[in-house]
Amino acid sequence: MKYKSTRGGHREYTFEEALFAGYAPDRGLFVPASLPVITAEQHLTQWSKLSFPQLAYSVLRMFVHPSEINDEDLKSICDKSYPRDEFDDESFIPVKKLGSAFVAELFHGPTFCFKDIGMRGVINLLAHFATVRGRAVTILVATTGDTGPAAVHAVNDVACPLLSIIVHYPRGQISDFQRKQLTTVDSKYVKVVSFEGGGDDMDWPIKETLLGNCDDIAIGGRTFCGINSYNIGRPLLQIVHFIWIYLRMAERLGIEPGDKYCMIDMVIPTGAMGNLTGGYMAKLMGVPIGRLCAGVNING
Ligand SMILES: *Cc1c(COP(=O)(O)O)cnc(C)c1O
Repeated sequence: MKYKSTRGGHREYTFEEALFAGYAPDRGLFVPASLPVITAEQHLTQWSKLSFPQLAYSVLRMFVHPSEINDEDLKSICDKSYPRDEFDDESFIPVKKLGSAFVAELFHGPTFCFKDIGMRGVINLLAHFATVRGRAVTILVATTGDTGPAAVHAVNDVACPLLSIIVHYPRGQISDFQRKQLTTVDSKYVKVVSFEGGGDDMDWPIKETLLGNCDDIAIGGRTFCGINSYNIGRPLLQIVHFIWIYLRMAERLGIEPGDKYCMIDMVIPTGAMGNLTGGYMAKLMGVPIGRLCAGVNING
């Protein structure tokens, strides 16, 4: 599987290149060069019996060529990415009935936001490549809420000596709870800084720093990497939970996994549309997801 830029670009990239660069050199976003196809017979029927880490492995295998990460390593990355002791529910994402709808509870991870579920996988993938290459990597994150705590927690727990993170948050503009989730982590891998300005003001300098990286991958022997939702690693990992939720819904409703006549509509709290993109990719790949409805608020 190769990756290309949403702006066309002039070449295709490996998964490792896309994951580390974050933005494509032409300032576009990385997307898979083609989407794998998921069928009822070959995939969904078998996948309905898998554990969460096994499903993550099966999905990621479609997006990462074995020459980049072999089966054994990818399995181990998936096992490490969903640690039992970090999630307070053994199904990771319990699906509960609420009136005539169902609710997928994505808040059973260590920082209580859905980003916990995919973040650990992204960090473990980065740690894997950093270790194989013997290359130090500094992750740059701008946060207005949930991304920072999830990333800080994941980097601290993965504890890869080559991986550290700098999180930037706008002073006075995130909740006290979230600020404490960031600033009370005492870890040699984590640095948290506040800045004056609006929530999106750090996006530009981070983008420029990362794009500077593209020409000269190692600045002083250190690579910068951004893992906000523009990084393709995020939606790729989030595809997994959409498929998981679809399969649990199929069970609950007595639908054959993959039945195209019984589409499941999904409503998703939305900001930068990273998570929704994961759901949309799952739909395009063939998972019978019907309508995707984006729910937005004022982020207050
Ligand atoms: C991150 C987050 C969002 C936005 O997710 P995107 O992938 O940026 O669309 C919405 N709601 C909650 C609670 C979040 O933590």
